[in-house]
Amino acid sequence: MASALLIFVDGLGIGTRGAHNPLALLGDEASPLAVFRDEEPALPFGGVLAPTDACLGVEGRPQSASGQTTILTGVNAPAALGYHKQGFPNEPLRAIIRGHSVFLQLKRAGVGQITFANAYTPRFFKERPRWVSATTTAVEAADLPFRTLADLRAGRAVYQDFTNRLVVDAGFDVPTRTPENAAGVLANIVSESRFTLYEYFITDRVGHAQDEGAALRVLSQLARFVRAVLSRVDLDGTTVIVTSDHGNVEDLSTRNHTRNFVPTLAWGAGRERVRACVRDLADITPTITRLLTTEALAA
Ligand SMILES: [Zn+2]
Repeated sequence: MASALLIFVDGLGIGTRGAHNPLALLGDEASPLAVFRDEEPALPFGGVLAPTDACLGVEGRPQSASGQTTILTGVNAPAALGYHKQGFPNEPLRAIIRGHSVFLQLKRAGVGQITFANAYTPRFFKERPRWVSATTTAVEAADLPFRTLADLRAGRAVYQDFTNRLVVDAGFDVPTRTPENAAGVLANIVSESRFTLYEYFITDRVGHAQDEGAALRVLSQLARFVRAVLSRVDLDGTTVIVTSDHGNVEDLSTRNHTRNFVPTLAWGAGRERVRACVRDLADITPTITRLLTTEALAA
């Protein structure tokens, strides 16, 4: 049966080559994340690229709340709002997510197990933050269980910093993981699910900080993680998609998001459909739902 994994990377765009772009400085170490304007990348594991418009016909720089809402629902959220919304979703965006999230669409279609692979720390459950991410809103609206630090320890969850370094530094007793170990955990989750979402945010943070050293470290580890996931997932039955909400880390000359296209990268069973169908962020969810509900590909 066909399955899909969506790896969401915050703030990763298609930039130009040069000293401002850590992906260019890393070279092969950043494969497959290093994609440059007007270049067809040589992607490992037979991957394909769909350059993806994150501006969505709305003026200004694309932002996280509206971009993530668009990725997770297929609804052009900045157009619905009239502007690109920063940070966390407001009520109109939450309403879009509650009505249209990819989790909900797949649940209604009865495709089977769908899951968010990220672990949450106890703090989230004890004092639920007033503002929550697009994904948290989508998980709650679809009534999916949250993965916890107990799941993380048991090898049944991946932290947003997949090395677990940030959780350890926060004082929790969890083992650190290499990118390869974390990829093995994610691949196990994928093998038990029809649809898996995994989110990674640190790219956007180091982009805002314009911290070249951190960007090089983070991108090289993330690239290792993605390559290891690809080597561990059954690509005959699974489509792996990497996408982003807006550019940022590919241009450290500015602390802002960029208006660059973002790379939607695809591997495995449905990669050609992703390449053919994804033009902007609103195309991601419909492509995933078609991949998982179309008989021909489900065989
Ligand atoms: Zn940002």
